[in-house]
Amino acid sequence: MIQKILIANRGEIALRIMRSCREMGIKTVAVYSDADRTSRHVIYADEAVCIGEALASESYLNMNKIIKAAKQFKADAIHPGYGFLSENAEFARRCKNEGIIFIGPNAESMEAMGDKISARQNMMKARVPVVPGTAEDLKSKDLLRVCRKIGLPVIIKATAGGGGKGMRLVRDEKDLSEAYASAKSEAKSSFGNDSVYIEKYIEAPHHIEIQFLGDTFGNVIHLFDRECSVQRRHQKIVEESPSPFIDDKTRLEMGKIAVKAAKAVNYIGAGTIEFLVDDKLNFYFLEMNTRLQVEHPITEEVLGIDLVKEQIHIANGKKLRFLQKDLEQRGHAIECRICAEDTDNDFAPSPGIISHVQAPEGIGVRIDSYIYDGYEIPIYYDSMLGKLIVWATTRTYALERMRRVLYEYKITGVKTNIDYLRRIMDAKEFVKGKYTTHFIEENSKQLQDTEDTDLRRTENIAVMAAYIDFIVNEEENVSAQAVADNRPISRWREFGKQKGLLRI
Ligand code: ADP
Repeated sequence: MIQKILIANRGEIALRIMRSCREMGIKTVAVYSDADRTSRHVIYADEAVCIGEALASESYLNMNKIIKAAKQFKADAIHPGYGFLSENAEFARRCKNEGIIFIGPNAESMEAMGDKISARQNMMKARVPVVPGTAEDLKSKDLLRVCRKIGLPVIIKATAGGGGKGMRLVRDEKDLSEAYASAKSEAKSSFGNDSVYIEKYIEAPHHIEIQFLGDTFGNVIHLFDRECSVQRRHQKIVEESPSPFIDDKTRLEMGKIAVKAAKAVNYIGAGTIEFLVDDKLNFYFLEMNTRLQVEHPITEEVLGIDLVKEQIHIANGKKLRFLQKDLEQRGHAIECRICAEDTDNDFAPSPGIISHVQAPEGIGVRIDSYIYDGYEIPIYYDSMLGKLIVWATTRTYALERMRRVLYEYKITGVKTNIDYLRRIMDAKEFVKGKYTTHFIEENSKQLQDTEDTDLRRTENIAVMAAYIDFIVNEEENVSAQAVADNRPISRWREFGKQKGLLRI
């Protein structure tokens, strides 16, 4: 039985995993980089070790250092979280060879689904519907013929793709060769592999995914759907479960197909199948994520299950605790990703010191985050500060609740996307539940700054002023020292003075 887990990650996901471990009486080891010395995951863990410099390649992506730390602290298992080494088959294999349990699927399953071509081949073999197209490296001599066979519009995609890189949409034959060349060159520069393939472009699709769990006995169950179509440049912003778009029949068919896909690659642990769904409810396999996903809490909320506990249970070699028939979606959950970014300035990251956090409270609210007053957001990692999740009995109630908690959430000192998220919650298509992956692009004007934001800013100013007042009166306070040192915090003092909100 696993007694101690090293979490090879940082930020909100490291904390979230540790919370489940604590409930289970499992000890935790945090690893951290130089830039994360003051991170909450370090403070929360039973033991913590610095593994290197801020650059991820020197710390969170460094297999040797992580495995060494696991051995030094006698951890039985490593939980990789998401990102970093979570989908790295070599890392899973190395853990196994070192006698450390990797909490995730085995290396072979990861490899089978790792690159897009082998994933497509494996899924076609298992009779899982994939987007019409090819499943081999596309040569330039075949380009036109293959494209005509599939029919325009098509999308050229990098075999090793991820994060929307190496993808080119082609609507006109005359643009084909240029798109092919540029997809290849981006694939080469992003992934060191210029292989591309081609698939049919599905107009205005929905991105809907199915969570599943598999155990070491070959049992697999699905945990229903998540709607993830609110995306900006292929990055998810808001997710909800259940999807307001699909009907129950489609939902169950997708669930069954996801189970089939997972079984085809002998999947162990928690995973997700992403599907594209067209306006006629046809659905197509897009990819499998062989890890816990950022948006997993909404599934937890509607099913009343802790997915991290289930991952650990499976890693202990135990049978799944649920049968498919035991599972039922209850109510509705929405998740908003809270990011430190400037939504008025092309969503540029906004690192800096968080002066004050005032988190929402009350019924149906969950916050998976890691920030605190005075925390300095490092520039080295992504800009997500955490996730705001609400649950309610119906979608309408969940939406009302999300509006309320976004109103309550105050983060000062850095720019965040909270106002932007509020505007999404008010957008007509979102309210109706009728939106596709084109939603953000099509509503970009409406989602930009409006007057109501000014009102909110006034509230923020009031919070800020109160905070500044507090720090300048608090001689012992470290933040006051920051003011004295003329660190960024002093900008607010200037600001407070300008606005007449500050006495000194
Ligand atoms: P990546 O792995 O780079 O994130 P994906 O294959 O997961 O790429 O696709 C990312 C997003 O791109 C999808 O969520 C969808 O919005 C869009 N997309 C990808 N393939 C297609 C397609 N064949 N038709 C329409 N949209 C697509």
